[in-house]
Amino acid sequence: MDSAEFRQRGREMVDYIVEYMETLGERRVTPSVEPGYLREIIPKNAPEEGEKWEEIMSDVESKIMPGVAHWQHPRFHAYFPSGNSFPSILGDMLSDGIGAIGFSWAASPACTELETIVLDWLGQMIGLPDEFLSFSDNSKGGGVMQSSASECVLVSLLAARAQKIKELKTLHPFVEEGVLLSKLVAYCSKEAHSCVEKAAMIAFTKLRILDPDENLSLRGTTLAQAIEEDRALGLIPFFVSATLGTTSCEAGTWLHVDAAYAGNAFICPEFKYLMDGIEFAMSFNTNPNKWLLTNFDCSTMWVRDRFKLTQAMVVDPLYLQHSHSGKAIDYRHWGIPLSRRFRALKLWFVIRNYGVAGLQNYIREHCRLAKCFESLVKADERFEVCNTVKMGLVCFRVKGDNELNQKLLLNINASGKLHMVPASIHGRFIIRFCVCAQDAKDSDIEYAWNVITDFATELLNEEVNLSKSVLSLDGLESCDEHIDQLEISELMDLMETVQFPIQKPHRKHGSWLKLLGTRVRKIVKNGDSH
Ligand code: PLP
Repeated sequence: MDSAEFRQRGREMVDYIVEYMETLGERRVTPSVEPGYLREIIPKNAPEEGEKWEEIMSDVESKIMPGVAHWQHPRFHAYFPSGNSFPSILGDMLSDGIGAIGFSWAASPACTELETIVLDWLGQMIGLPDEFLSFSDNSKGGGVMQSSASECVLVSLLAARAQKIKELKTLHPFVEEGVLLSKLVAYCSKEAHSCVEKAAMIAFTKLRILDPDENLSLRGTTLAQAIEEDRALGLIPFFVSATLGTTSCEAGTWLHVDAAYAGNAFICPEFKYLMDGIEFAMSFNTNPNKWLLTNFDCSTMWVRDRFKLTQAMVVDPLYLQHSHSGKAIDYRHWGIPLSRRFRALKLWFVIRNYGVAGLQNYIREHCRLAKCFESLVKADERFEVCNTVKMGLVCFRVKGDNELNQKLLLNINASGKLHMVPASIHGRFIIRFCVCAQDAKDSDIEYAWNVITDFATELLNEEVNLSKSVLSLDGLESCDEHIDQLEISELMDLMETVQFPIQKPHRKHGSWLKLLGTRVRKIVKNGDSH
């Protein structure tokens, strides 16, 4: 492809993307394909010669799109939003065009400097204390972009681990690092994201997962008690991951605050109270690629002391050094990969193009719509809301057992009309409804609620029918011992009466139905009509 063709194809691609976004609502929200579907329709080997652009694009529509889950679809309410906006897409496109790998200041100075500036902008917008910003007076802190929240948590944990081992080595110089490592213990709440468990697993440190209170918050007293117990056992507490700043930190441990989704809302003054306690934190992360209209990947992280972070990461071969190493930031020391894309561009584009006010409006609109959804759930006595709705997420369920809720979600998702995912709160199966689409509207919320209630009504009616058949089964339980004596015609009558072939048998009648089944099989096999 030469530059003239790139111009043409680039314009066509923008048209394709706009068309895709504008007609997204007409597609199924999730695909109805089976694993391996693509292998069947794509050649087994790469083409020897280059192919025509038209042919490639035609395969996008016919082969790729049928297997795409449309995260930007107005009916997508699963997980959290996947940030997306035109300025962000254009920022990423420019970054791809520049194609720089900004691992150090010298490797691409603008890449590093814009990242530092934009991280300070965003840090100020969400109200982080000055110590976390690069350009505040006497600051030792600063911000960096990582690929994901999981990476932010891992990097923080690795930094905390390195600090603690260093501290212990000065106290016990002759004790092996491996022995010291075996004593370290980290903490998080049972409600924390699984990435904390993964980080501890990778770092080879123990993790104690603590029970939250009835509001799902990890309390300081719970943590303090766990730390005291572990110290008494000779363990060394070194890291705490809190989901928001609700946990005060024990001396000597590194508190990381993971606010992957919610942290974006702190750009609105009314949510800043949730940052209370941030003064105890050593590091903090939030994902603009979730809820700040910025495309993946863009996970922002700040540390109070950048030297403590980089000490865990510095490896400095000669070929990566440069003459400004002493006075410039080299982000390769702030994380795991060496190579880094120019990610700051897209966030810079987004913040400048929307402005703080535009981004606040976007967050507030999602929160308002979540409240509308909550009101609809609360107004229907068959349902209950299971979380305190503060932001864009509503957790709800049908009043009934887990199986019923599981079935409801399965039916809705299988229809392709809406997509939501489950979670478990205190052992109860709940359905998560998140406002995700960039320009979600009241009509989308109403549509979603209509789909949910239609499926729920159908399912609850089925349940009523099932309990009717269970009632007739109840009367027949006493037949247990007689089943073996029944004639085929009597068996047929019996099966018709209980309507059991239509419904999943009730657990209670499992053994009775088994007897019936055995008898039928025997008749079929032996032609036995007794
Ligand atoms: N932490 C929290 C609180 C999250 O909500 C999530 C994802 O939703 C993650 C971590 C993982 O994020 P990532 O996919 O960026 O690793």
